[in-house]
This record gives sequence, structure tokens and C-alpha cells, in this order.
Amino acid sequence: MLSVIPMVNDYKLDEKQVSFDNFRLDYEPKFKEAIIQFENELKQKLNVNENSKFYLFKFIKDSKLKRQQYKIEVTTSNTTIYAKTKEGFYYATRTLIQLLSLKTAGKIDNLTLNCLTINDSPRFLFRSFMVDEVRHFFGKDEIKRIIDLMADLKFNYFHWHLSDDQGFRINFKEFDKLKSVASTRKRTKINSLTNDDYDEHEYSYCYEIEDIKEIIQYAKDRYIEIIPEIDMPGHTTALVAAYNELHCLHKQIDVETKFGVFSEIVCPSKDSTYEFLKKLLKALCDLFKDSKYIHIGGDEVDTANWKQCPDCNKKIQKLHLDDAKQLQQYFMKEMVSYVQSLNKKVICWHDGVYDSSDKNVIMQYWTWQLEKDKIEYMNNGRTTIYSPCSQFYFNDPYAELPLKTTYTKKISFEGLTRTGLSNILGVEGCIWTEWIDSNELLETLILPRLEALAEKAWTKQKNINLKDFLKRLDNHYLTLDYLNMAYTPTKIALSSNKKKRELISKAFRDNDKKVEFKLYLKAKRKLLKK
Ligand SMILES: [Zn+2]
Repeated sequence: MLSVIPMVNDYKLDEKQVSFDNFRLDYEPKFKEAIIQFENELKQKLNVNENSKFYLFKFIKDSKLKRQQYKIEVTTSNTTIYAKTKEGFYYATRTLIQLLSLKTAGKIDNLTLNCLTINDSPRFLFRSFMVDEVRHFFGKDEIKRIIDLMADLKFNYFHWHLSDDQGFRINFKEFDKLKSVASTRKRTKINSLTNDDYDEHEYSYCYEIEDIKEIIQYAKDRYIEIIPEIDMPGHTTALVAAYNELHCLHKQIDVETKFGVFSEIVCPSKDSTYEFLKKLLKALCDLFKDSKYIHIGGDEVDTANWKQCPDCNKKIQKLHLDDAKQLQQYFMKEMVSYVQSLNKKVICWHDGVYDSSDKNVIMQYWTWQLEKDKIEYMNNGRTTIYSPCSQFYFNDPYAELPLKTTYTKKISFEGLTRTGLSNILGVEGCIWTEWIDSNELLETLILPRLEALAEKAWTKQKNINLKDFLKRLDNHYLTLDYLNMAYTPTKIALSSNKKKRELISKAFRDNDKKVEFKLYLKAKRKLLKK
């Protein structure tokens, strides 16, 4: 068995092994940026003996391979790595660091490799993970740590949720009140949705442009592209709180402190709203200039205010629309075509995609219930990102969404045809952070589900094997320990403890998130102490 996550798709093991205490890398200079990280990782792990004969890693361009494909041949005399592109070479090095156990504690005098051949390429070209930094903020260092691990697991996109009712997290200089007003809420709902408990501290976080640029570059160096999201027209309370001219009735409201779906959102009928949002989207596209995709949300729109708004009613009449729902479709169409005019591809949550949506809009399917019209969109050619919450939303505790479900459930929907299946661009896991107020809890909920997601995204269905995955996971925990990342031990992640599961599930049913997580962290600490 190869201890690699995600599992490679084709390999042949030899019985021979090779050991070395000195090494050399041979590659064309143009591939340096894809290989230099591996060179440094080798140096960090190995006490190099300069007097020994070196073991050679040769990187050779092979134009016949696909963009994300790579091949590795390990023999006793050298290791040869073939790829067509920098990404291909980078993915090969991510496999090699695991075969060599480079990311584990302590320096070593000898490195050992099994002789083998690997021919590997991903199941999906798009492999992504999303973090919500609005409900809670984790900061530059934590985001880098997550991106680093994602890179080792061969993800190539990071979806960054930066705008919502409870805050706006980028300090665009052209907008004077994004940082001073929209990034701050007076207090934060805690414990559960059904009580009156708040953390009364002001909650105020905003990334400076330089921070964002640093993270973009950090991700780029690891072959990860960032997909920034500004959710609209729903989930815009923070923007409206800062700029009340965006409100249907110009009401002065506060940045939201509770969680859910709210009606204090932008008016889709004032020219000034379109001017404001276009300027904001232009600033976003300029900042993320190398990103192909921009996410504009489109989900969970409460139109109660629109129904009472004179401007909205006039707009509905003028455009001969039936109702607020159609007004929402008109708004999304305008925003989609604007972002497309800036040469970006648009992604929307599936509730922001309609019969009339532009054919190039990418739909991100997220709910648990089957929505037949959306399945039809996929069957009829709509490119889709697969993120059903019943499999890939990592905010739920493992008792509700066990690791086994994330790992074993097939990527498909009832009613999806072969064509529909072929329209799945890739998969994305998401973590929504309403109740996740620490880096430890964030990591505990993500890991090891992120590893399961990585394997669903990269490894072909025929090679998906839970028993084998869990064995490799045991080895991978050594890397998580080395990276000092909090994770949930397999035993809890699989929820094999019935009593604990019942307790956590009860808290979940009572919507008592905090209790549920506390119980869960306590159980984890106890297990780790044993
Ligand atoms: Zn309005």
C-alpha cells in the first residue's frame, strides 16, 4: 500500500528499496518554481551527508501528458518525474513528500523510497474548499496554514467567503465605510438560535489589501487559485448598514449580529445600487486579477423589503415582471453580465441560477434536498460544482455528518444522466462558521474531512476504498501533528460511540450548537489523552 492522500490512480510497486543521505535535483530552469518547494522540504528533513554519492531526482518534460498529469519512476539509481506543466510537476512533488514522509517531526540521516512506477491524473480538474471568514474571522496565518495543507492534498481552488450580513472583510480604499462600518458588528449571537445569548464584545476584522495580495501569492505559489465571493443580493446587511442609500427605504440599520436569512438587503431597483455594486465588483476583479472565477452568491434572498419599496414596485411594472422573484432574476442577470464583461467566469449558488440565466454561469449545488429543476439544468448542459451539504459541509459535527458519508457517498444525484454527470466541473467542501469561534474548532471540524474530500476530488471512484483510506489516514496524522493542526481522531470522526453520538445529536436537534461542539471537543481531548 502507498501511504498517499489522495490515493494515486495507477501504480506498480517493486520489492526493491532505495536509501540515500545525499541528493541532487535536475530540472529545466523554467520549472524551478514548481520544484523549489520540494527541494527545500528535502533539505529540511534530511541531515545531508555531502561526502556520500548523491541520489538523483530528474524532472523531464513530457508533452504527451495532460495538464495535471504526472508520472514517477523510482529505481535504485534515480527517480524520474515526468509532467507536461508546472502543475504536473508540483503534484508529483506532493506525492513524493508523502512517500518520503518529509512532513513529520525530526530530522533524519537517511531517506528511503520504495521502487515503483506511478501514472496519476485527477478525476476532477476542479478541487476546492471554502472558508467563511465573515461569521468568524481566522486571519492570514490560519488561512495560509489551511492553503498549505490543501496544496499537499492537491486542491487547486480556495473559495473565500468575504462578505455577508455579519460583516465585510476587505478594506477597499475606494469605499470609506467598508472598514469603518461594514467590518464591525456590535455583538455576536452565541449558544443557539433559539435563546437570547450574545457575546457582547464588538467583533471587528478586515483584511487590508496587502494582506489579500500576500495570500493570493501564497496560494499561487502552491498552484491554488482563489475564488473570492461577494454574496448578493441576499446576505448584504453589512453593506447596507454602511451605505444606507442601498436600502429600499433608506433605513439606517446595523451590521447583523444574529445568524440566518435576513430581509435588510440591497434594493435591486435603484441605479445607485447598480453603480455601487459594479464599482465594488470591479475593485474585487482588479484585486483578484489572476483569478478565473468570481463568486457572486445569489442564494437565500428574502424579498420582504422589496415588496414594500416604491422603487422596486415601479421597476417591476416598468420591466413587466410578475413579482419580486423575477426582479431578483433581473438583478442577477445584470450582475452576471457585468462580471463577465470583466473577463471573469461567474459562479452562483444554485438558488441564484434560473431558466433564464446565462449559459456560462457555473452553478454550485449545495442543498440536501433534490431540486429537480436544477438536476435538469445539469442534464441540459449547465456546468456545476458539486457541494451538497449532506456530504461536503464540514460545519456539522461528525455525529451528524460522519467521515464515512463524506468519503463513501457517490458523487451523483438521483435523476442525473451521464451527460449531467459529465457537467460536474468538480467538487468543493465548505465550512460555514456561525458557531465556530476558534482556530482549533475550525481545524477539528475540517480535518480529516478535508482529506476525504481531497480523495473524492482526485481519486477515481474505482479506487475509493474506506478501509484503505483509514489506514493511510493514520499515517497522515503524523503530518498533522507535525504541522500542529487540530484534527478529529478517526474513532470520533466515524462516530462509533453510540452514547456520545446521541448526546451530540440531541444538542444538534435542539439547535444548541455551542453545547454540541463543547461536548465534542471534550470527547476528542479525552480520546487523545488515552
Ligand atoms: Zn427596493
